[in-house]
Amino acid sequence: MRVKLCRSWNFLIALPVLLSMQAQVGLSASKSDLTTKAERSQWVETGRYEEVERLCKAYQKTYPEKVKCFTFGTTAEGRPMLALAIGEKSYLLPSREKSRKRPVVLFQGGIHAGEIDGKDAGFWFIRDMLDGKILPDALKKVTLVFVPVFNVDGHERFGANNRPNQIGPKEMGWRTTAQNYNINRDYMKADAPETKAMITLLRSWDPLAYVDLHVTDGAKFQHDIALVIEPSLSGSMALRSVAEGLRGKAMADLKADGSLPLPYYPSFVTDDDPSSGISPKPASVRFSNGYWALSNRIGVLVETHSWKPYAHRVKSTYDALKTVIASAVISGADWRKASDAADAETAALIGKDLALSYKSTNKSTPIEFLGYAYTRKPSAVSGQLMTRYDDEKPEVWKIPFFPEVETKVEARVPKSFVIPSAYRNLFEERLKLHGIRYEILKTPWKAKAEAFRTKIISAGKGPNESHQRMEYEGAWEPVEGEELAGSLRVDLDQPQAKLAMLLLDPTSADSLLAWGYMNQIFERKEYMEAYVAEEVAETMLKVPTIKAEFDEKLKDPDFVKDPEKRLDFFAQRHQSFDRKYLMYPVLRIL
Ligand SMILES: [Zn+2]
Repeated sequence: MRVKLCRSWNFLIALPVLLSMQAQVGLSASKSDLTTKAERSQWVETGRYEEVERLCKAYQKTYPEKVKCFTFGTTAEGRPMLALAIGEKSYLLPSREKSRKRPVVLFQGGIHAGEIDGKDAGFWFIRDMLDGKILPDALKKVTLVFVPVFNVDGHERFGANNRPNQIGPKEMGWRTTAQNYNINRDYMKADAPETKAMITLLRSWDPLAYVDLHVTDGAKFQHDIALVIEPSLSGSMALRSVAEGLRGKAMADLKADGSLPLPYYPSFVTDDDPSSGISPKPASVRFSNGYWALSNRIGVLVETHSWKPYAHRVKSTYDALKTVIASAVISGADWRKASDAADAETAALIGKDLALSYKSTNKSTPIEFLGYAYTRKPSAVSGQLMTRYDDEKPEVWKIPFFPEVETKVEARVPKSFVIPSAYRNLFEERLKLHGIRYEILKTPWKAKAEAFRTKIISAGKGPNESHQRMEYEGAWEPVEGEELAGSLRVDLDQPQAKLAMLLLDPTSADSLLAWGYMNQIFERKEYMEAYVAEEVAETMLKVPTIKAEFDEKLKDPDFVKDPEKRLDFFAQRHQSFDRKYLMYPVLRIL
């Protein structure tokens, strides 16, 4: 049914008497105002952002006691980032204190704006909740925060061909932001204004569960939805245990609702080869669910399968929200206890080794995966093996599953990190954003510390999220630490110690050093002229230990025929050599 939306809405707000009459007869006119274009088009199309702006206000007007529509940020192109808080009136403003009394669940659509199921499912879901059609009384026990579209500018880059591996809607938004950031790689470094706004929103509401609604492509198979609930294979046992409870109930509920759900991300060890199996790993901090789990709360990644029609996908997203929120009602108090326990454990990590990344072990177990018949044959087009699925022929694949992970990179959690004042601007904004406690040193600081000396392996391949990453290794070495007033000290006896480690330890793949924010440390800026170096070398060769070392080097034919390397041997041992070259400026105190 087509409704002239704006007109009927204006009519209603102009006539409050009629509105109250409408309320008594079930608010039929305003209810149709609360539908999405997706619903009205039988899930063929999805609306533009103008619809989100209109619905956000309309929901608040229709349910003034239970909904608050608000702006929590502005995109790079200047669009408002909107959210709806849903619950009892006194809980509709962000308050960490209130969040402690009543669990908050925050869910978002359109982080990848072409995968827009979450927006249309979310509006439908909250309307049914507000009308008491599902989860009656749940809003007396939980508060919801719904962000219909996270990547708003991407959503407005609207077109029919934005998702070549997806069935519907007819047109949709684009994966990345207007600045071409993939926000679901940005949670730790937080470059995009949209990410900064989202993290601020998360920190102000402190949801016990954060749900990120996506659509995945990749292979063709029968499973229609996956819930990747973190923490799973790493992190606090208390939190893993409640996440396990949520996972179990979600799988059972989704099956009861007619889905074929998966509790892990459906991608294969070898991308297009199902027989290679599945090896789940803890989500990295750059992803929404990893970020929130490493903040000691539950992170839920929902991925519907792109080869299911839009109507089906929206319904299964709706069902996913229903089960997560039902669990929050039942288990919210346990989630809170587990989160508190995880906070306390994290604040006591000093002196321990913390895993910063993981890899799967070789141990595998066969599983049954609901796929389709497929062939892998050489392709005349690409010259490689290509996979062709026959989605008319359901088939059970028996594939290896790698359930275990082991530490790939670990680092000792120090007592403190000290960030030199020269780098304060780079770090301070991010420390604040992530809720990492720090102190600004009021007087010059001097103490025994350690510095990380790197050795470049290679430059990373091309830009990554606008950064040139460097591959390096290195080791901590003792130094006499000395920094100016205005430097920052981060003590690790705090609930955000894991985030602090991932941001500050140079061996973390998500540290600012690894992301290429401090590539200047890899550049040598002062040299000794060759004719000076020749003279210096002659003098230095009079020292027997240096001569012996040089003679040893001369056994290497590559060294022998490289005049630059030969002179550099002496430059590096000379007092004029830059001791800060290749040195990570952030110090640690064990
Ligand atoms: Zn996605």
